[in-house]
Amino acid sequence: MKICVIGAGVLGVTSAYALARRGHEVTVIERTAEPARECSYANGGQLSYSHAEPWANPGVFPKLFKWMWQDDAPLVLRFSTDPHMMRWGLLFLLNCLPSRARHHSEVMLRLGLYSRQKMAELVDETKVEFHHLAKGILHVFADQKAYDHARRQADFQQTLGGQEVALDRAGCFALEPALTDTTMQLIGGLHSPLDESGDIHFFTRNLADYSAQHHGVTFRFNTALRRIHQAHGQISHLELASGEYLSGFDAYVLAAGAYTPVYLRQLGMHVPIYPMKGYSISFNATDACPEVSVTDDGAKQVYTRLGGRMRVAGTAEFARYDSSVRKVRIDPLIAGVKKLFPNAPIEELAEWACLRPSTPDGPPTVGKTPLPNLYINSGHGTLGWTQAAGSARLLADVMDGTPTEIPLTGLTLERNLIRL
Ligand SMILES: Cc1cc2nc3c(=O)[nH]c(=O)nc-3n(C[C@H](O)[C@H](O)[C@H](O)COP(=O)(O)OP(=O)(O)OC[C@H]3O[C@@H](n4cnc5c(N)ncnc54)[C@H](O)[C@@H]3O)c2cc1C
Repeated sequence: MKICVIGAGVLGVTSAYALARRGHEVTVIERTAEPARECSYANGGQLSYSHAEPWANPGVFPKLFKWMWQDDAPLVLRFSTDPHMMRWGLLFLLNCLPSRARHHSEVMLRLGLYSRQKMAELVDETKVEFHHLAKGILHVFADQKAYDHARRQADFQQTLGGQEVALDRAGCFALEPALTDTTMQLIGGLHSPLDESGDIHFFTRNLADYSAQHHGVTFRFNTALRRIHQAHGQISHLELASGEYLSGFDAYVLAAGAYTPVYLRQLGMHVPIYPMKGYSISFNATDACPEVSVTDDGAKQVYTRLGGRMRVAGTAEFARYDSSVRKVRIDPLIAGVKKLFPNAPIEELAEWACLRPSTPDGPPTVGKTPLPNLYINSGHGTLGWTQAAGSARLLADVMDGTPTEIPLTGLTLERNLIRL
């Protein structure tokens, strides 16, 4: 098939690679000048295959009301006049019900573990470089209730193939000595040995180059989609911002990150993928920085070493399509470094913010749309890096009409679709 992928973030590029290696002729259009300049640029770097608890869970629900009034809270969900945000927010609250959160955990763990396998295959095949570390992820806790909840979740996930080891304070320090001087009241941790870390930007850029060189994928940068047109119940052509029309493809894949729902709405499809803004800082790594990727569970912040740089990321706020950096959201990241790794100097600081394409239940949206030649790979929220390799393989199976290796339950577009 001749396939056009819209978007060269990690989901667009892994999709292009998965399709091209099966012999499809793939063109990727991207509005920026190179791959991975938006959400796949400076994220937390965690390949957290075992982290399957969605943001929408019963534990978050009571905190939401407290966080609503706190500008530096980990998640700020506010009342909004934007009808898309209102719908997303209501669905998010509904998905905090225990039975739903449990179901979504299962879906996300299945996709996470599948992605781990597919990522290993991809790295083996392509040898792409991305400052890959396979030292697991250590979640640290200062709150007994939160720690108990996380251990119950880990027990539940263990029944589904997850693997997490509970560590006391000394065990956390032994695993990651850089934590020893922390001023946090660290009571214990959970180490997930199956998890890994790496630089999403390097990975996506290098995989794009590999796909172009070895599988003939064509990348058209500085090429922005303006509108998707349909005729006779299928996509007829793409209209670019330049005024050019693109047609002649057998199938189209929408992987435009947080902008995906904008283009679906042009086709009468209302899907609750909404931009959830996140922030990161990067600075030079020293011996006082961790080797094992660390998550501060209470602050919802992650600390990952990426080659010679250290990345700290987190926070979720709703600001529509405004991706500007607000200092009030950067300050907690800097405070987090001083709390967890007080001896780490913050030198050559880079600040970044971006919009995660988030669904209100947690799992992404992968596969068919109601239009037979339009497919989607988007809505991965906080776990797009983790789930990219698996999602791309699922998409390729769906497009080829071959059975998927894991069920698509909980990942399809219909689960949240309204057609107008
Ligand atoms: C602060 C932060 C920390 C994170 N940490 C982690 C982590 O540790 N682990 C993890 O698994 N995930 C993490 N994530 C989430 C992960 O980064 C995202 O889920 C993932 O990058 C989304 O990839 P994407 O390809 O869907 O979107 P994007 O990377 O945004 O790619 C979409 C692409 O589509 C292009 N595009 C959009 N509109 C058009 C158009 N009209 N025409 C042409 N091109 C268009 C964009 O330019 C962009 O390049 C984090 C996110 C943030 C913000």
